[in-house]
Amino acid sequence: MQARELKICEILTVGTELLLGEILNTNARFLCKELAAMGIGVQRVLTVGDNPARLREDFLQALGRSDIVLCSGGLGPTPDDLTKEVVCEALGLPLAEDAAQRQAIKAFFARHGAPCSNNNFKQALVPQGCTVLYNENGTAPGCCLRTDEGKIVALLPGPPRELQPMFIGALRPLLRGKSSGAIVSHHLRTYGIGESRLAALAAPWLACQNPTVAPYAKDGEAYLRITAAAPTNEAAEALCAPVLAELQNLLKAFVYSVDKNLSASVLHLLKSQAKTISFAESCTGGAVAKSLTDLPGASEVFGYGFVCYANEAKQRLLGVAPTTLATHGAVSAECAEAMAHGARAQSGADLAVSVTGVAGPSAQGTNKPAGLVYLAATNGNQTLHRQLNTGRDDRDYNRTVATKAALHLAWQLLTIS
Ligand code: ATP
Ligand code: MG
Repeated sequence: MQARELKICEILTVGTELLLGEILNTNARFLCKELAAMGIGVQRVLTVGDNPARLREDFLQALGRSDIVLCSGGLGPTPDDLTKEVVCEALGLPLAEDAAQRQAIKAFFARHGAPCSNNNFKQALVPQGCTVLYNENGTAPGCCLRTDEGKIVALLPGPPRELQPMFIGALRPLLRGKSSGAIVSHHLRTYGIGESRLAALAAPWLACQNPTVAPYAKDGEAYLRITAAAPTNEAAEALCAPVLAELQNLLKAFVYSVDKNLSASVLHLLKSQAKTISFAESCTGGAVAKSLTDLPGASEVFGYGFVCYANEAKQRLLGVAPTTLATHGAVSAECAEAMAHGARAQSGADLAVSVTGVAGPSAQGTNKPAGLVYLAATNGNQTLHRQLNTGRDDRDYNRTVATKAALHLAWQLLTIS
């Protein structure tokens, strides 16, 4: 049968544990990202429990609406793993044993020195006529088949460490050429503006069709995603470029980068200016240093930082004067400034950034509210200050927002001309 142009895809993630909130649906995220990069548009992600009737109904609906249906999960040997059986029944396809897969199962168990039960050979059964996607990290094979109407159905195992290599190594090559072109996305990253104001300023662009422009908010920052679809990558880039430039100009007071997140932006600036940085952290407990050192290449710009939770540590390691602490308290602009100067002097780094605040949930012994955070950044000549008052008693949120504020303050100090 002549393959027609395929472009609409749906993902069906199967597993009651997903509906119970026990695990995060990282397979959907992975597949969406990979498919978008290939120019295959995912229009829906459905999640269904290990229930054959609902699985059948959702599968058939997805197949009716789209050209490609990818299912994840439920390929294992246990009775609740039903995806293959249900899909075959719905398509009217018999299951047939794949000899190579039977051998692969035997070999897998021999390699692991584990006994192999009859149950395991259930996994040698595959839909008749399919392309078997052999599993190098487990015993459940995946499969890819073309229906009578020329639609593509692929079944992938649930465990991400099995699904991801199988998709990349076996399924992706089969899907290549099924896309109607390229999809390109860019993220205009801003700091210091809320999502609703960002959306209001960008309102005329939010109605665009190609590229589409959509606002997103993350704790402490907001960004606009600009996505274009075109026959080629270059054409999609060309559609994005003018919109990106217009929005960058409109929001220039808030934009810190296109695509790079805060830590990557800071790392990039430090490297290009051949500068080093240190951090003096109280309420973030090392999270600022972690977010920079999460990136490869951080050692070029970062030697060490200080986690000084107790007042005594602020005095001993950073040289914060006892009078500063006694007069203003540890959560104060004065203490933040002294911490930044101390970290810079002790580490010998070109820049130092400090954070001190009340993470919450309670104010714990201070008369300052949870969510009050002071930051300072210094390069010896200039010192920048920032105060956050989140008004929240959510410890995780306050620490995340304080970490981003510290990175943004570093960004600001590095971009002051
Ligand atoms: P197994 O042979 O391990 O049973 P399976 O293909 O039958 O594999 P499931 O039983 O549905 O897959 O899921 C096995 C495990 O894989 C889950 O307990 C979970 O840890 C992980 N998993 C399943 N689906 C997802 C998903 N959508 N996102 C992330 N992890 C998932
Ligand atoms: Mg299973």
